[in-house]
Amino acid sequence: MSPYKAKKNCYVGSCPNLVEVGVKYCSVHAHKLKTDYPRRYPERQKMYGPAWHKLRKWWLNGHPLCVIEGCGEVATVCDHIVDHKGDYEKFMDIENLQSLCAYHHNKKTGKEFAYGKASPKSYDR
Ligand SMILES: [Zn+2]
Ligand SMILES: [Zn+2]
Repeated sequence: MSPYKAKKNCYVGSCPNLVEVGVKYCSVHAHKLKTDYPRRYPERQKMYGPAWHKLRKWWLNGHPLCVIEGCGEVATVCDHIVDHKGDYEKFMDIENLQSLCAYHHNKKTGKEFAYGKASPKSYDR
């Protein structure tokens, strides 16, 4: 590889691999591009601010278990039943919230993904 070609670090902070300039992730982390949701939708990411984190915490406190029948896992995700599509009112609407465990949340977003309808909320971080 040409030493003159500029390289930069993989977008994953802890990753030691170098990538070409203009490429975000090394081959190990290339799959992350698909889930790079907040950066592709910066206007949506803004919604996941302190108010959301407060609401999310409050919600999960009152609804600690996954709502999927027969699951019974501890919920870690405060999910929007209907995609808020960037609508802040819908985003903060407690009628539109449900508790999901990580597994069922992934299942839901994965499915929506496949149909190209909604986007993953990996962000419920
Ligand atoms: Zn990497
Ligand atoms: Zn579940």
